[in-house]
Amino acid sequence: MPSEPIEIKIKILRQEIEELNYQYYVLDNPSYPDSHYDKLLQELISIEKKHPELITDNSPTQRVGGQPLSGFSQITHLTPMLSLDNVFDSDSFGKFYERVFHKIASDQPITFTCEPKLDGLAISCLYKNGNLVHAATRGDGKIGEDVTHNIKTIQSIPLKLRGDFPELLDVRGEVFMPKDSFEKLNKNAIKDGNKTFANPRNAAAGSLRQLDPKITAKRKLAVYFYALGNAEFKKLQNDAEQTSDERLADSHHNRLKQIQSWGLPICDEIELRHGDKACLEYFKEIGAKREQLPYEIDGIVYKVDSILSQDKLGFVAKAPRWAIAHKFPAQEEMTLLKGVDFQVGRTGAITPVARLEPVFVGGVMVSNATLHNKDEIERLDVRVGDHVVIRRAGDVIPQIVSVVLDKRDVNASSIIFPKVCPICQSPLEKEIDQAIYRCTGGLICSAQKTQSIIHFVSRKAMNIDGLGDKLVEVLCDKQLINSVADIYQLSKDDLIGLERMAEKSANNLLQAIEKSKQTSLAKVIYALGIREVGEVTAMNLANNLFDFKNIINANLEELENIEDIGPIVAKHIVAFFENENNRQVIESLISHGVSWPEIKPKDKSELPLLNQTWVLTGALSQLKRNDAKAVLQSLGAKVSGSVSKNTTCVVAGESAGSKLKKAIELGIEVISEEEMLKLISSFQIVKI
Ligand SMILES: [Zn+2]
Repeated sequence: MPSEPIEIKIKILRQEIEELNYQYYVLDNPSYPDSHYDKLLQELISIEKKHPELITDNSPTQRVGGQPLSGFSQITHLTPMLSLDNVFDSDSFGKFYERVFHKIASDQPITFTCEPKLDGLAISCLYKNGNLVHAATRGDGKIGEDVTHNIKTIQSIPLKLRGDFPELLDVRGEVFMPKDSFEKLNKNAIKDGNKTFANPRNAAAGSLRQLDPKITAKRKLAVYFYALGNAEFKKLQNDAEQTSDERLADSHHNRLKQIQSWGLPICDEIELRHGDKACLEYFKEIGAKREQLPYEIDGIVYKVDSILSQDKLGFVAKAPRWAIAHKFPAQEEMTLLKGVDFQVGRTGAITPVARLEPVFVGGVMVSNATLHNKDEIERLDVRVGDHVVIRRAGDVIPQIVSVVLDKRDVNASSIIFPKVCPICQSPLEKEIDQAIYRCTGGLICSAQKTQSIIHFVSRKAMNIDGLGDKLVEVLCDKQLINSVADIYQLSKDDLIGLERMAEKSANNLLQAIEKSKQTSLAKVIYALGIREVGEVTAMNLANNLFDFKNIINANLEELENIEDIGPIVAKHIVAFFENENNRQVIESLISHGVSWPEIKPKDKSELPLLNQTWVLTGALSQLKRNDAKAVLQSLGAKVSGSVSKNTTCVVAGESAGSKLKKAIELGIEVISEEEMLKLISSFQIVKI
């Protein structure tokens, strides 16, 4: 019987989706990533498309949300709250655009309002005569839960409207938790031994559905409004002919401005775009600055801007034909934890690394994820053999955010954190108030030695071409190098005979080693691998203390007077140079011919950017924002967060937005990150 399996398949899919819906909407506690839900729903949609006779009224494809909780009273929406159709790639968006284009029968590119799709919880707020009457969640689209008591705790929600508002207003928005509030909430939860939230959306949903508004108030939620449900204006004597519709703007974008004028917040990234290409550009631009935005988004919503065109397009089932959500690639996926390795870093830090069944997430294949430290393993209660949710956002190292307990196997085994260094068997130590365990072996620990040499030769340090990680490991194993200074004693005989090392590559490597001797003081300091001394700190040390003699003799107070160096870093620097071995390494490097241009003390008044105010905006690709700030400060500039007429120069990274606009309006000089780097390196004292 060929028809039976497909019916069973549909039944199972619907049950699974219902279960996920319940966890997501009712319990606010999903155990699977959204991508899993999307996959199941898409599968069900495609099967139902082929077998329309099997669609039932209660199929998950036929409704918008979940059942309201019994603890809240219910509110019937004046007009239903709709859902949006999704597309996951630009081709599917192209097809949507084509359909709209033909239906409107336009001879011009279609104008869309493009909005970031906030990852929060949809709400509807009802105002009568300008006063907030109630607020409700989406619920099943027709009936939602009364969350007025919690909505009132959100500072940005007006309790009274302002301006020329309608007598009756039903306005829709998204309640969300800004990233910084979310981090604070989870930090406190960890401190108090409470359960953490997997992501800001769950935290927002959990907070909005508290029975006690005092708890919600502490959670610092935010809201942006994005659509009108209903708006009825009072009839005026003198323009009795004008209907409510006529008093509303005739485009979505202008209606948003009206909404804003009534005192309701809207997202400031919203823009008008003309045509499909421009929409996709917007998608790319917002995608590029997604990590910098203060809130989580999971895609872009495109809405046909003309209300007339919207009416013409109408609705299909419960979704409008004039809008679509374009989702970013999933940042969270589920996979299997196959094992945990313990890596020893350059400074002895022991890092547990999860070995995963490879999975495609955030646009790349991921097979490892960091577990950070012992506390994190305990907090997650993760076991080998568990299904885990991993997250990869932007260029951040993938991490495990939660364990799917529903799928825990009885054989899943606890992770045992080692008691001694897995490489050299030295005891581990842990500083008070720190989560990191470290190997105490120092340079007798071959892992630390190898890692410190790999760091020394790396591109931003001594930049020795051809001396890759594998070769360093071989040279260390064969005892050809025991410290970084030994690199400068390597001979051709040492190299030839190593695996895959012919005469030519040996010569090239020796040349690269020779070339690396001409460098800068900052690079040598950075190359030494002093704990928490990155490129910028190394540069500040060089520019303020000028030579190793001064750096070695500097006390804590002198070090802390230097820009960007706090008490902890100062302590690490002093400890490093107190070690006889480390001082000998420096002497040895110098005796082998490592050298750099002398740095002359500069008068403060000679700082090239003195009395200037700079602003950094958009995404920088080469320097971290804090590093760029520190460099500019070391050159005498003030770095400000906002553009004003007193701004000297604005550095605009990718997808710079409102600050760039303002700078152009005010006629302030705008340069690219590339131009800033050129300018910095043109000043003699700074070499990065
Ligand atoms: Zn060790």
